[in-house]
Amino acid sequence: MAESRQIIYLDMDHTLCDYNATYEAYKTKFPEIKYPQSIEGFFRCIEPIDGAIEVFQWLNSQESFDVYILTAPSVKNPHCYSEKRLWVEEYLGTEAVNCLIITPNKGLNKGHYLIDDQINGAGQENFEGKLIQFGSSNFPNWQSVKDYFLKTIEKDEAIKFMFENGLLSIPSRSPLSVNARRSPKSDLPDVHPELPPDHPIVRHRNGELSDAELCRELGIEESKLLRYLVERGELFG
Ligand SMILES: [Mg+2]
Repeated sequence: MAESRQIIYLDMDHTLCDYNATYEAYKTKFPEIKYPQSIEGFFRCIEPIDGAIEVFQWLNSQESFDVYILTAPSVKNPHCYSEKRLWVEEYLGTEAVNCLIITPNKGLNKGHYLIDDQINGAGQENFEGKLIQFGSSNFPNWQSVKDYFLKTIEKDEAIKFMFENGLLSIPSRSPLSVNARRSPKSDLPDVHPELPPDHPIVRHRNGELSDAELCRELGIEESKLLRYLVERGELFG
């Protein structure tokens, strides 16, 4: 939904960039240097992690999201600032340079998502949005990140569809109602209370219609969106 774009930040080292591979190569090539990441050119020649470029471009092409690169500098290596900038231009394109933020404190940035291999150390622990830890068991690679955001988009589109078709109402925000009727994490709309008893939504809830029949009755059998909500139990839960 273009009117409510969500901000996603992407870390560079160990997330977009395969820092370890270059580190090991430099350690072999310059064994006498204790901190190979301090050598000029180090940050310029890091290779992207598999899938990183493709998923960055995919996220960037979605109207639901505004994508930024959020990276902490290696402060003792002044070359890293310009080399990160050059890396972004080479692999992500000239436009992406406008979205590069280099900061020692990522917690100061406002946004909805931060994709980062670290959960603390550069302000990640103070980030107010959702932290997606790249490389964790839930998000081991870029395909898993893409799958996650694909579902996020589907859910947003499904809710939008339901609102536009008068099938949902805004849920009560009272704490009592929230506690009594839904888990604290859930913040999804209720089914509209004024739907007639023979409405497909109501009949589905009563067990008279299957998921497929519901989609057919609503004329959206081609859509995966309603099915997504139904399968997750989020629409009627
Ligand atoms: Mg990192």
